[in-house]
Amino acid sequence: MRLGVSAGGIGEIMLGILETDYLVVGTGAAGMAFTDTLLSHSDATVTLVDRRHAPGGHWIDAYPFVRLHQPSAFYGVSSVPLGGGTVECSGVNAGFHEQAGADELSAYYTQVLDRHFMPTGRVRHLPCSDHAIGADGRHFVTSRLTGVVQEVRVRRKWVDTGYLEGRIPATSPPPFEVAEGVRCVAAGDVARVTEPPERVVIIGSGKTALDTSVWLLTQGVPASNIQWIRPREAWWLNRRFHQPAEGLPAFFAGVGLQLKAMAHATSVDDVFARLEAEGFFLRVDPTVAPEMCRGAMISETELALLRQIGNVVRHGHVRRIERDRIMFDDRSIPTSPGTLHVNCAAVGLARPPLRPIFEPDRVTLQPLFWGFACYPFALLGVVEATIADTDAKNRLCPPIHYWDAPRDYLTAYLALLAHERARAGHPSVVAWAKGTRLNPLSGLGAHRDHPLVAQTWDIAKQYGAAAAANLVKLLQ
Ligand SMILES: Cc1cc2nc3c(=O)[nH]c(=O)nc-3n(C[C@H](O)[C@H](O)[C@H](O)COP(=O)(O)OP(=O)(O)OC[C@H]3O[C@@H](n4cnc5c(N)ncnc54)[C@H](O)[C@@H]3O)c2cc1C
Repeated sequence: MRLGVSAGGIGEIMLGILETDYLVVGTGAAGMAFTDTLLSHSDATVTLVDRRHAPGGHWIDAYPFVRLHQPSAFYGVSSVPLGGGTVECSGVNAGFHEQAGADELSAYYTQVLDRHFMPTGRVRHLPCSDHAIGADGRHFVTSRLTGVVQEVRVRRKWVDTGYLEGRIPATSPPPFEVAEGVRCVAAGDVARVTEPPERVVIIGSGKTALDTSVWLLTQGVPASNIQWIRPREAWWLNRRFHQPAEGLPAFFAGVGLQLKAMAHATSVDDVFARLEAEGFFLRVDPTVAPEMCRGAMISETELALLRQIGNVVRHGHVRRIERDRIMFDDRSIPTSPGTLHVNCAAVGLARPPLRPIFEPDRVTLQPLFWGFACYPFALLGVVEATIADTDAKNRLCPPIHYWDAPRDYLTAYLALLAHERARAGHPSVVAWAKGTRLNPLSGLGAHRDHPLVAQTWDIAKQYGAAAAANLVKLLQ
């Protein structure tokens, strides 16, 4: 155990000086996935800091009916499975593999910390604590409970997992003004209303708005009582193509469909049109061109439910809600004091300027390629532990922005194709990627004789290079 505490303070509230190899700031999904592979690929000590009281990041404060949009099988940390591999037998995801909800994710991350990280003897956890860097570059952690400040001396690197920290409605004010007397709640609070509203107005275009709408409809709220203010239309990925285990051949077939569409398309929109025709991409309103693609997935049952909501408002962003009017930039629509307005409008994922992921004294977690969130962050832990040269690490792992618009999806997909090629030069990373459950295609070997798999290998050979070359052209 090399986690040291030495005496000596610089002020009344300074308790001591902690020493650690890595200081990981943030115990959300990203920090936990990175720490897990760092621990398993090195003998480093790690100090974990988070202002929240428990690991799990935004899931700790998420709305009660939130679930992963992807299967649990591909989420979490590499070394600890999430969920039991069951298939849902009822509800909007009947027939699909389980997707953990917020409670299960919170319990999972606590278990990862208590039963897997702490027993290594190399991990220290500082919850309810804020991290800050002093003008002289020293790291300080302040307890929110005691006010005690501790200096953390970092022998190797600090790991910034908060660089992309998004905002969720539960922990940030609405991005519009709300006049006194207006019934307006964050998404989660819609599950806690005590008086039935006259009608409900959902505000937002993303996954929170989608989840809230689906949840209300499945609770029996009539679609005619819901108005959906949807500034942008979105492309959603069809859940059917993103299943583990017996669903992997269809998953791989989806890869083939994408490569073929990307190789032949004449524009960014044409890629999506071709994939919509295959049922790979879905949109709620087929008459409106989507301006958004955040990569979330839905089932066709959810899609059918969402299409029941006919009262859709497309006047841009809400600026203010009065007791009887909802104001946009250039117009307003009526509302009423008995209406419940549900804020689903926070920016889930941040898009600050890119910076190198690996620096001599710092790792800044950012996405690398299209895919489920935890896989690239776990991969970065392997890269940090097994590749010595900073330039080589950065060449293998150039960061990209989180996807927001349709073309961002294609940029991220191109990065995925480039990364697959670059990874071949790093055997330790290849070996890990082949074995981790976080990489959906790591399980494909078990299905090599499936006709869809054989067929897709042929498609990949035929169209892989052409898809990459055409994407470069389409994205110019
Ligand atoms: C509703 C919703 C559903 C989603 N579903 C999926 C899904 O199904 N699949 C998927 O792949 N992704 C999903 N995502 C994306 C999701 O953002 C990631 O999966 C992941 O949870 C993000 O983890 P994170 O660690 O990057 O961020 P966070 O969960 O935000 O964690 C960052 C942590 O860092 C801490 N922190 C930051 N700065 C400091 C500081 N200075 N001092 C102390 N602590 C600090 C914060 O307190 C926080 O706990 C979803 C996102 C949302 C909002």
